Amino acid sequence: MVIETRTPEETFALGERIGRNARPGQIYTLVGDLGVGKTVFTQGVAAGLDIHEPISSPTFTIIQEYESGRLPFYHFDVYRIGDIEEMEEIGYDDYFFGEGICLIEWANLIEEILPENLIKVRIEKDLQQGFDYRRITIEGMDGEEGADIK
Ligand code: ADP
Ligand code: MG
Repeated sequence: MVIETRTPEETFALGERIGRNARPGQIYTLVGDLGVGKTVFTQGVAAGLDIHEPISSPTFTIIQEYESGRLPFYHFDVYRIGDIEEMEEIGYDDYFFGEGICLIEWANLIEEILPENLIKVRIEKDLQQGFDYRRITIEGMDGEEGADIK
């Protein structure tokens, strides 16, 4: 599924629809260059889960946990990870195989430990379409959920 946005608000709104429809145990992986809108999208997902505290990028902590929403929300940003060991140290499998929602920015950097069942989100710019244009490709969502977020 491909969705195009032309403002940060539209990307946020897409994330929000996804958050509203998210189900326990889902893992969303997020890839795309620096500044493409991964965190904007994540903030939308959090809002859709009824989390109303500020969401910033947990760049120096790898993971930020939010328990105030409809479901536990685990926001990973693995951009600065040096070694996959760091994921072991934080006990990542409790998050990946738990009942909350995991969302992983820069998931391509930890490919070797990702489970098979993922919802993959890729965000890309296309400068020919304008500076704020984003093409957001989502794979791995079932038909019902896909229809709800379109
Ligand atoms: P990342 O987490 O991928 O590094 P951020 O979400 O922190 O990126 O930043 C994205 C930046 O791009 C923000 O400053 C946002 O305002 C801007 N932006 C412009 N157009 C869009 C769009 N269509 N969708 C998302 N963000 C956009
Ligand atoms: Mg970010």
